[in-house]
Order: sequence, then structure tokens, then C-alpha cells
Amino acid sequence: MPNLVLTYLCNNQCPYCFAESRQERHQFSLEQVRHLVPLLKQVNSGGVNLVGGEPTLNRSFLPILELLLTEGLQVNIFTGGRIPPGLLDSLQLIQEGSFTFCVNRSTGPIAAETIRLYHKMGYRVHLAATVFQSDQSLHHLLDEITAYNLERHYRLGLALPVWPDRRNTHLDPTEYRVLAAHLFEFIRTGVDSGIRPLFDCGFPYCFFDAEQRKFFQDNGIDFSSHCGPIPDFCPDSSAIPCFPLRDLGVAVAQLTRWDELKAALEGRLTRVRERGIFARCTGCRELLEGKCSGGCAALKTMS
Ligand code: SF4
Ligand code: SF4
Repeated sequence: MPNLVLTYLCNNQCPYCFAESRQERHQFSLEQVRHLVPLLKQVNSGGVNLVGGEPTLNRSFLPILELLLTEGLQVNIFTGGRIPPGLLDSLQLIQEGSFTFCVNRSTGPIAAETIRLYHKMGYRVHLAATVFQSDQSLHHLLDEITAYNLERHYRLGLALPVWPDRRNTHLDPTEYRVLAAHLFEFIRTGVDSGIRPLFDCGFPYCFFDAEQRKFFQDNGIDFSSHCGPIPDFCPDSSAIPCFPLRDLGVAVAQLTRWDELKAALEGRLTRVRERGIFARCTGCRELLEGKCSGGCAALKTMS
């Protein structure tokens, strides 16, 4: 599903943030979004993610959401969960269309605004966590899903570097082995309670071992290794493959067809498609057969 980066403003301070070095004050305007709607409607999924920063801080957030819903797009709002009470009350009044919240619960104690969101609209909420430490505790996800009767799945992503500087906090592939054991135990605990993970991009196929992948298969959990372009539409009228590869963007103005845009972005990634993040990737059957993307492109050297 494509992402609309509504604003770079944020009321959280996640250490791994992909948007962290963007000091830009640019925000999407309602008119800009209206202009993009025909392109968004060409995407098969029929949906769009509203992301940031904290997307609800966009000064036109409510009209933008209403426009997208009126156009028949399914909207998923990626939020840190600290939604102001007034806006939450307005969101409750929306009758038309289908929208959900993906609440980032990677870090920190839960905020009062987030609990309010759960109480008022928990039936629309699923949780997400970005893993940026190999011993990161995630059990609060299961506790909150159960306590507040939220959707019984959660998104799991790896903290990935922003290319080329890789200055944000991110995991090094040498940490994956330890992390996989830790994550698998957590996932298994959730499955015992009927709570399942959805995996974001960036996981190499060999992140989990064969036995762990079989557990996923046996329990109907979709685990695959994929790498964008997603893409993300930015307020400066560019489209980028994803935040970690934001230096490889293209201008949207001249492109009116979805397949043209995807092809333009894919073209920027050709250099990284044939190799992986480990030395052992060269000649790996999974890479050759397209089962593995070879890990996140932002971890590779693009020369
Ligand atoms: S480079 Fe690929 S794997 Fe990494 S964040 Fe972008 S889409 Fe995801
Ligand atoms: S291509 Fe590399 S990352 Fe992917 S499965 Fe093979 S060795 Fe692992």
C-alpha cells in the first residue's frame, strides 16, 4: 500500500526514526492530496497509509482523511497514538468509509492519549513495533491487545538504516541471529493466545531458521522476504522507494500512471537487486530464485 507522508512533525522521539534528519516544515495540503487521488486509485490494493512524522499533526488532517474516504480508498493511519482529544472526537463522528489505526508501540510507557484512543476506537486499532535492540521487550504489545480488546495481530519491523549515512539507530545484520531467537520466543507466546505477527519489509529469508519458518507455516503466519518500492509520496511532490532510500526519489509531477511510477523507482534500485547483505548471499539459491531480497537495500553498498 502506498504511503502519504503527511508531515515530518512528530510528538514522539523514537531513537531509530527514519524521518529523524528531516527538519522540513513542508506538509501535504488538501489540494496536493486531491491531485494525487487518481494515481492512488490505480493501485490494486485500493488503500493508502497516512504516515509521518505524526500524520495527525498535519494541519489539514481531517479534511484529507475525509477526502480519501469519500474517494473510496481504505485508509490506515500510522500514529504514535498521541492523538489530541478534540481530533479523536471528530474521528469518532466519521460515518463514511473504512479507516484503521496502526499504533506504534515500540518504546516507552503508554501515554494517556493512547489509552483514550484504545477505549474509544480500539476496534479499529492494531499495534506495531520496530525492533531496534536485540533484547527489546515487546510483551506489552500482547498485554495491551488483550487488555483493550484490540485487533489480534501486530506489525513487526526491523530498525533499518537511512542510506547513505546510516546515522539513525538501526540493527546490524550481525545481531540478527540473537534477535531471531528472542523474537521467535515472543511470537510463539503471542500465537498461544491467538495473536499473530505481520512482518514488514527488510527481513531476510534466513533471518529465521527452517524450523521457525515451519512453525509460521503451520500457524498460518505469512513470512516472506521482500523489498519495496512501497512507495512513499512526500510533500515536496517526490515519490521515494521508502524512507531508508529517500535519496533515490523521483519527481511525481510528470508521472500520471502507477505502473510508470513503480518502474521509475524500480529503475533506481536495479543496482542493489543482485546482491545481498551477507558475503554468503552471493550464489544463494533463495536470492537467485527470488525468495529473498537479500535483506534491506539500505544496508547494501550501492556503487
Ligand atoms: S530498502 Fe527495501 S527492505 Fe529496506 S526499507 Fe526500503 S523497501 Fe524496506
Ligand atoms: S540471499 Fe542472503 S539474506 Fe537471503 S537467504 Fe540467502 S544468505 Fe540469507
